[in-house]
Amino acid sequence: MKAAVTLGPGRISLEERPEPAPGPGEAVVRVEVVGVCGSDLHIFHGTHPYATFPRIQGHELAGTVAAFGAGYAGPLRLGERVAVEPLLACGVCYPCRHGRGNCCVRLAVLGAHVDGALTEAIAVPTGSLYPTGALSAELAALVEPVSIGVQAVTRGAITAEDQVVVFGAGPIGQAVTLAAVDRGARVLVVDKLPTRLALAARLGAERTAEADAGDLAAVVADWTGGDGPGVTIDAVGVPATIRACVDLVASAGRVVIIGLSEKEVSLPIIDFTRKELTILGSRNNAGLFGEAVALVGRHPERVAALITHRYPLAETAAAIAFAAEHPAEAEKVLIRVAD
Ligand SMILES: [Zn+2]
Ligand SMILES: [Zn+2]
Repeated sequence: MKAAVTLGPGRISLEERPEPAPGPGEAVVRVEVVGVCGSDLHIFHGTHPYATFPRIQGHELAGTVAAFGAGYAGPLRLGERVAVEPLLACGVCYPCRHGRGNCCVRLAVLGAHVDGALTEAIAVPTGSLYPTGALSAELAALVEPVSIGVQAVTRGAITAEDQVVVFGAGPIGQAVTLAAVDRGARVLVVDKLPTRLALAARLGAERTAEADAGDLAAVVADWTGGDGPGVTIDAVGVPATIRACVDLVASAGRVVIIGLSEKEVSLPIIDFTRKELTILGSRNNAGLFGEAVALVGRHPERVAALITHRYPLAETAAAIAFAAEHPAEAEKVLIRVAD
């Protein structure tokens, strides 16, 4: 079978690999569609903190079940379409013992720490498979990024009572927006790129604001009647947006941080107590993958609106390079492994 193998920074080659065989507790999934994620750009450019080479990338995948390991008794059926949760947790560390394998200290993510889905077939634990019913393969491949949004709104305890400001309208910011709108919250999205803000509005954002264009604090104050939003969410991961989350959130509000960065951020200590802030990190998802399948099923047109580009497996390098170089045009780029 063919696999797109990242050999080193900027180098992906299509190679022949042996077909996987399912071990006990595993299934082989015939891969249909793989989404390109921001973290894939980092791996491709050699700037990802965990990834090593050579590596088969790809952690946002949908496919059909092709084989089960010995002794599998159901409920999944051969040929069924599934979304794959790409997290392999150790099961014994502190977060794993507390139901939070999403931040396992030995977490392995498909396509980053171990080989992933940019190949024709992959063996994965049967417990990582979620049937997607009538969803298309493309929508099923979007369950994983949507699960990041579901986790963020769960961490932020967002309800229909909340006004939420989301920083960042890339695929993760859009997933957060969709998940918050699904809960009935009112959402204002901030991004530098007008094309991405237009998409956020299609996903249900009540208001959008261009970063760096005018006085954002005044816009947010106007939108919230002077209170500030109950929740601010960073899906950018730069010091300025995290600072803005803390500055803008209402007193007694919650700040949720999803963006990744090794940079440091400086915050006024007084705000932690003056506002009695709750600041929450959010990573992957903890037991919410099935909810993400359901969320995609409730909003198929909105999720499909995220898809901007499609490439075949043989053009994986071009797909990742395009996503990196054209953020205003490329929202979700998909690799169609099987047609
Ligand atoms: Zn991802
Ligand atoms: Zn663990």
